[in-house]
Amino acid sequence: MSIPFNKPFFTGKEAEYIQQAVVSGKISGDGMFTQKCNQFFEQRYGFKKVLLTTSCTDALEMAAILLDIKPGDEVIVPSYSFVSTANAFVLRGAKIVFVDSKSDEPNMDVARVEELITPKTKAIVPVHYAGVSCDMDAIMQLAEKHKLFVVEDAAHSIDSSYNGKYLGGIGHLGTFSFHETKNIISGEGGMLVINDERFIERAEIIREKGTNRSKFFRGEIDRYSWVDIGSSFLPSDIIAAFLYAQLENLEKIQAKRKEIWNIYYKELKELEDKGRVSLPFIPNYATNNAHLFYLLCKDQEERAQLIAHLRAKNIQAVFHYLQLHKSEFYKPFYDGRQFPNTDKYADCLVRLPFFYELKSEEQQLVIAALHEFYQYYFQSPL
Ligand SMILES: *Cc1c(COP(=O)(O)O)cnc(C)c1O
Repeated sequence: MSIPFNKPFFTGKEAEYIQQAVVSGKISGDGMFTQKCNQFFEQRYGFKKVLLTTSCTDALEMAAILLDIKPGDEVIVPSYSFVSTANAFVLRGAKIVFVDSKSDEPNMDVARVEELITPKTKAIVPVHYAGVSCDMDAIMQLAEKHKLFVVEDAAHSIDSSYNGKYLGGIGHLGTFSFHETKNIISGEGGMLVINDERFIERAEIIREKGTNRSKFFRGEIDRYSWVDIGSSFLPSDIIAAFLYAQLENLEKIQAKRKEIWNIYYKELKELEDKGRVSLPFIPNYATNNAHLFYLLCKDQEERAQLIAHLRAKNIQAVFHYLQLHKSEFYKPFYDGRQFPNTDKYADCLVRLPFFYELKSEEQQLVIAALHEFYQYYFQSPL
């Protein structure tokens, strides 16, 4: 038996809804299923306005255009993140100013943000790692004080909240991903959430190739034309049909994922108590949406051995997020600041197999293999 790291879950309704979209004869963007998805998000999460996109990357690129990011503007981004968090702003000419993670969790260290703000700073982009919220009150206060925009990269964060407020709905803009590695999927897919009303009209234009076609479709104008810059950021209704089948099962998917997460936590707690590994920390203000389960090894060498030990048992565990500030692309811009916490997560974090259909027996094999590794194979001094 081999246990993969991820396996996309299909609810069973996807093909039926895709067929309905096809039969309806309208499969381009903003069709019937896109409307259903929009309603779902706006009703369930109270988001002011949502626009489906073809990816979270696209939603981040839309955010950068909406904020009028120009060459020389500075954007504060965690170094421990996916490349799109930074790249979307680089495409507009921004200078990326990286910030370190916290020592007790991979999220950005908000206490280190203010010293990075200059007159050129335009935006802060918090990433809610593993769907666990950043300290949003502190971030929003800084943004207000210095007149900055906040774009939440909520790619991991569906159905998760900060002090009762849904993630993605707190900053001026929020972005989500429905890539097949996330909780709710459409293969590729994403969403821009617009919480600041001033951006709604322009967001629709940017998403429709710089035209006011959305207004035209609503009958508000009698022809549409080129009014701004933009691109093609909207998904086909076939994608939305797939996504809607997932959304109808969101409760079920989330309940199962939380169950899997809690079992990992409970069964691995002993390793943490013995000082062998660290488990995820969830602050009081944050909920856990069970996007992923990670543990932290002592160092890179131990992690490599652990991953090899699991691989020998046909268990696929992975690590991710190499430091963006040490990437080949960023090297010429790197100012030499050290990010010890980012380094720690890049070197020591391991993600365990985590997906809806992970069977209890499979999960127990993973857990047993971890205990075995720390008991017999890896005798690091306590
Ligand atoms: C997955 C991910 C993205 C990109 O999402 P896509 O939909 O694949 O473009 C962006 N940011 C973070 C933090 C992610 O995990």
